[in-house]
Amino acid sequence: MSRYNGLDSRAGQGPMSNDPQPVAASDEFWMEEALRAAQRALEAGEVPVGAVVVCAGEIVGRGWNRNLTDSDPSAHAEIIALRQAGANLGNHRLGDCELFATIEPCPMCAGALVHARVKRLIYGADDPKAGAVHSAMEVLNHPKLNHQMEVCGGVLAGRSGELLQSFFRSRRTEGR
Ligand code: ZN
Repeated sequence: MSRYNGLDSRAGQGPMSNDPQPVAASDEFWMEEALRAAQRALEAGEVPVGAVVVCAGEIVGRGWNRNLTDSDPSAHAEIIALRQAGANLGNHRLGDCELFATIEPCPMCAGALVHARVKRLIYGADDPKAGAVHSAMEVLNHPKLNHQMEVCGGVLAGRSGELLQSFFRSRRTEGR
């Protein structure tokens, strides 16, 4: 299993340094940050989902699920990250931004991504029950919407899936 540990980790690895997918490598780099945010949710007893908004090579928004903490049904990682990015950039349109989420966004978050005009969405594991990119329904890039967004799924998907599975497993054991 390969874990991407930072920008220098591929230097001097012989054939590996000719990796033809530099874009995927930087996607993994930012996804690590989203996974770190998901870890914060886990520590707070929340469903472990994390998100970061990246603009011009910098994180401008960061969020993790806070539904229980804030008694807020809309406090999903992506929403929190988008709000922070908007406040930081002083703009409710985030057309130069990319959002990295550990899980395929739900319909609410997909809607917010469209409202924000986010340029690109990168996510980890699919969510067969509520994913609104392609799994449960298609909110993002729906043919009736004007805004089309570039989407890349499956980035470090195993890691975000494991995080969720261990959370639900431990909740089941605690429930007994
Ligand atoms: Zn959501």
